[in-house]
Amino acid sequence: MRAAFRTVERLCEHLGLNPSEHASIAAARDFPLFAPWPYVRRIRPGDPADPLLLQILPVPDETKSVPGFSDDPLAETAATMRPGLLQKYDRRVLLVTTGACAIHCRYCFRRSFPYADVPNSISDWQDSIDAIAEDPSIDEVILSGGDPLMLVDSTLTQLIDAISQIEHVSRLRIHTRLPIVIPSRVTDSLVGMLGDARPQTIVVLHANHPDELDTEVEQAIDRLSSARINLLNQSVLLRGVNDSVQCMESLCRKLVNLGILPYYMHQLDRVNGAAHFEVGKDEGRKIVESLRERLPGYAVPTYVEELPGHASKKPIA
Ligand code: SF4
Repeated sequence: MRAAFRTVERLCEHLGLNPSEHASIAAARDFPLFAPWPYVRRIRPGDPADPLLLQILPVPDETKSVPGFSDDPLAETAATMRPGLLQKYDRRVLLVTTGACAIHCRYCFRRSFPYADVPNSISDWQDSIDAIAEDPSIDEVILSGGDPLMLVDSTLTQLIDAISQIEHVSRLRIHTRLPIVIPSRVTDSLVGMLGDARPQTIVVLHANHPDELDTEVEQAIDRLSSARINLLNQSVLLRGVNDSVQCMESLCRKLVNLGILPYYMHQLDRVNGAAHFEVGKDEGRKIVESLRERLPGYAVPTYVEELPGHASKKPIA
């Protein structure tokens, strides 16, 4: 994390690109560039269209205001029960554990989330943990962020222990991109902690392109699988990154070969600064239809969009 790329200039210099031609300093002021070495190593130098680079490089298009795009496209502010505790769907709650991420994805729907209000220590979370304990209908707790694996192991252990003590919580779901972007985060102690948790543990990864799954990532996935942790993946359909049948097919094949079920392919959430990533739904439907012809059913992700106030994510195709 300390050695990560934090400026457009340094990243472009490393990749042999001209920052004034390919990037935007103004966009980086709104949402800073942040990319760790293990991820940047997978980017092809000298290629401004590299699909991994497009996910992290601030570009001029981000500064355009586009109708229909907003800072809070999923109305998460309205779903907030307490600071950092959200209930969007029945029986499940989402705990925003930290505002930190190991990478800044330019299309992130929480790029403007008020993370300063989010509790980030066990005493701060007590209020939310009490609220979960008081509601027996809640059977699943989702740790989200930011990225919950940004917490140090001791803090994460305390949090998971506190949740494990609530008997009606049967499942603990962890949404994380860290095993993909810094696979060495998947240490033996982390795997032991997740594998030993009393609720059924489900790790939902976030990979968008097959080039993100290199040998180090495969080894991290093997470590998670060895602890019998259920592994799912969600991706976001992104213009220029993965908006072709070939790319999505390759991603899904790689995922299932690693024992990860491709769970969701998300339509882009319409957050300010991300409009240039949007792929039309008709195009998305055609991609999924072709995936169904090429892959076994379990390898085809459900194409969904999230609409504020709806009781579940809405399947598109
Ligand atoms: S890792 Fe997830 S939460 Fe963090 S910036 Fe990327 S999409 Fe957003």
